[in-house]
Amino acid sequence: MRTAPVHKPNVDTASASAWLTVDTGALAANYNIFKTMAGPKAQVGGVIKADGYGLGVAQVCAALEREGCPFFFVATLDEALFLRSLTRKPIAVLGGLYQGAETLYVENNIVPVLNSLAAIDAWRAMAASGNTALQAIIHFDTGMNRLGLGKDETAQLHESKDIIKGLNILYMMTHFACADDTGHPMTGEQYERFKAATAPFPAIKKSLANSSGAFRSKDYHFDLLRPGMALYGLNPAPETANPMQPVARLDARILQVRDVSKGETVGYSATYRFEKNTKVATVALGYADGFLRSLSSREGRTANLYYNGTSCPIIGRVSMDAVTLDVGHIAHIQAGETVEVMGPHQDADTLATAAGTIGYEILTDLGKRYHRTYI
Ligand SMILES: *Cc1c(COP(=O)(O)O)cnc(C)c1O
Repeated sequence: MRTAPVHKPNVDTASASAWLTVDTGALAANYNIFKTMAGPKAQVGGVIKADGYGLGVAQVCAALEREGCPFFFVATLDEALFLRSLTRKPIAVLGGLYQGAETLYVENNIVPVLNSLAAIDAWRAMAASGNTALQAIIHFDTGMNRLGLGKDETAQLHESKDIIKGLNILYMMTHFACADDTGHPMTGEQYERFKAATAPFPAIKKSLANSSGAFRSKDYHFDLLRPGMALYGLNPAPETANPMQPVARLDARILQVRDVSKGETVGYSATYRFEKNTKVATVALGYADGFLRSLSSREGRTANLYYNGTSCPIIGRVSMDAVTLDVGHIAHIQAGETVEVMGPHQDADTLATAAGTIGYEILTDLGKRYHRTYI
């Protein structure tokens, strides 16, 4: 198993407070794990919404394209329009078609995911007016109740298949609600509903699995996998050791180290009081950088940052631009040195658990102030 990228701050980044290092080789390796898993039958698309899960869509797209990624998914039309300037590969918008956007889709060769009969009708009218079989993906809702044709609309489509006549349907898809939870009964139920929804269209390709879904069963692979999170190193099968390689590493600068006495407090609202004399390191990282305020110390839950591999608990509140650590157990530690926020000692999933959230949120919140290096 390859370890997270090592980053040594250098003079080029003297102005930086924190350094985000993205290992595009690890990203490529993760993509290839899916390709190997999919075998010759299924293709592997790349879900690169939300700026490539916060890691930088341009670099992520380039790395995936080098590995032969044939199809990209984003959430919004704006994301698709930006991505269109980066790749010639097909791009689909999961958020779907809304009134007034049809022309932008056509002019920029973007594939809408059609989430309702109304959207299908609008797209079919667009196709008829241009006399071309416009490409689209049809999305069935199989239990998430978020996006896609529900039960009634699916039944209507089965009754009159002409509803999609004149369109070039690249895929029919649905999305798992609980695939990260191994053995969750809903996953199998959604699979059955998806098979029933698509049964009248045997000639149309199908796409079901997100990252976790792809790991649950080969039955879920169909023609196109849609991994996102696992490409970026998050664990798609949380009940096991992470099969993916770490992609993101984050280090932050120590701004000041000070001695504090028993009975004193640290930070806003004085939420943490020292029980003995110790030392505090103030690190240049805060909630303005997406370092979540829920990582503030509280009874029974402490998050850590790592100094040369030694854990240092966060004490007090995370503020906008600073976080404070108890470093009383570290003999030599100085301003100007760095601490590991994410890296070999703590991955995004671990940090997420400490923050009471999921790795997706940690990555997509990664701050604008970090100096980014792509290796
Ligand atoms: C975000 C998303 C994915 C990717 O999911 P991961 O859990 O990140 O692998 C796939 N399909 C749809 C519809 C999505 O919204």
